[in-house]
Amino acid sequence: MENKTHLKTDLVIIGAGMAGLAGAVFAANRGINTILVGGAGAFEYASGLLDLWGLTHPDNGYCKDPWQDLAQIQASRHFHPFSKICPSTIETAFGELTDVLGQNGLAYAGLPRENSQIITAFGTAKPTFRYPVTMAHNVTAFRDKNPTLLLDFNGLREFRARFVQQVLSSTWQNIRIAAIDFPQMSGRSELVTPLMAQAMETEQVQDKFAAAVRPQLKGEQFIGVPAILGINTADKIRKRLEGLLGVNLFEIPTSPISVPGIRLKESFKKALEDTCVTRLPDQRVLLASQNPGKDFVLETHTHSGIRAARIQAGTCLLATGRFLSKGLISDRKGITEPLFNLRVDQPTDREHWHAASYFDPKGHAVNLAGITTDERFRPLGRKNLPAHEKLYAAGSILAGQDWMRTRSGAGLSIATAFSAIEQIALGRT
Ligand SMILES: Cc1cc2nc3c(=O)[nH]c(=O)nc-3n(C[C@H](O)[C@H](O)[C@H](O)COP(=O)(O)OP(=O)(O)OC[C@H]3O[C@@H](n4cnc5c(N)ncnc54)[C@H](O)[C@@H]3O)c2cc1C
Repeated sequence: MENKTHLKTDLVIIGAGMAGLAGAVFAANRGINTILVGGAGAFEYASGLLDLWGLTHPDNGYCKDPWQDLAQIQASRHFHPFSKICPSTIETAFGELTDVLGQNGLAYAGLPRENSQIITAFGTAKPTFRYPVTMAHNVTAFRDKNPTLLLDFNGLREFRARFVQQVLSSTWQNIRIAAIDFPQMSGRSELVTPLMAQAMETEQVQDKFAAAVRPQLKGEQFIGVPAILGINTADKIRKRLEGLLGVNLFEIPTSPISVPGIRLKESFKKALEDTCVTRLPDQRVLLASQNPGKDFVLETHTHSGIRAARIQAGTCLLATGRFLSKGLISDRKGITEPLFNLRVDQPTDREHWHAASYFDPKGHAVNLAGITTDERFRPLGRKNLPAHEKLYAAGSILAGQDWMRTRSGAGLSIATAFSAIEQIALGRT
């Protein structure tokens, strides 16, 4: 069957996770005609926090200064992707992205050069670089150990204020908990945070929420709730509720399905509307061909397997993620990259993928496997030369990083996408 649509563009970005979407925003800001292929499904699982680097050193406690470790990575010319990006560029990338998200309804906060600690629904304190502004009082209440009321909602299983209180009891004693019915949902046997957040968008629900909370306050100046303060106007809702209650209100990031993740997805969507980026969110690239000196030609399919488009592009940014996202595929013989058959740097055999202990502080070799690039983020081929003059890669598909262990997920994607797009923009001048 013939392809339905023939499209031609300067840049195609494959994959719409954090790296692909951030890359699309940076491309839009630079006026690069772009097609972004892929949906942003995984965002519903993300916390909404933007980590830069949060590796805990056993002797020093939490990682307060991410730049110290990043400077060491740079100085040692370690093969981590951050070794190819100077710190000021990483700061610029974060600044540019959070400005855009802020202009599209999702303001971020954080200390200029340090990580902050934020309380999660597991009662743990997580170091992060940038957090949604609706979580700002989470950081200060934990830092100063302010008397705080944590709210439970009858019927909500994914958040337990008592659990948070118990886990934190040795370091933060003056937390009190209370349970209330969520307005207009008291008949339901089970609540979920996205529905609560949606309901919170109306002033009627906000007023009823404030009326239910007021009698629970016993002089506390801080109230913590799971992330339910709306989808599109969360910070406005937080401020309005603070006005009604006369306290500081903060959100605690919850496990999936995550409202802050949905907000991030919505904010990216708005940011890319009416720009030079065309999104194909319901499609996947199934075939990609590249010949030296010629344009890339990509075939896309819908999720039901119907051929959708043939895309011709001068430049390509590969942001397809790792195993779960199918950017990398593993089988008994090893790890491969399915679209361009790129070189994947990996342990010599599967026996060396994992350390003997699951909790080995050095992590597992398989998590460092991936695509190695040159200084301009172009994947290297088998002779250590760029596989293609105009093929770039960004995000978690890259080799040499272990984003989960080093708590650098968003930072890795934002900084590498920014660097790749800067190179692509330079190549056009
Ligand atoms: C549960 C969870 C929690 C997280 N929490 C945090 C956190 O607290 N802080 C933080 O900083 N980061 C967090 N992250 C990490 C972060 O959000 C990103 O996942 C990470 O930065 C990697 O992004 P990526 O874009 O490289 O890859 P991915 O997020 O894996 O995105 C790759 C995308 O490419 C698509 N794709 C693959 N192949 C194709 C194809 N052929 N055609 C079209 N599309 C394709 C995939 O469907 C996927 O959507 C979390 C991630 C997860 C999954």
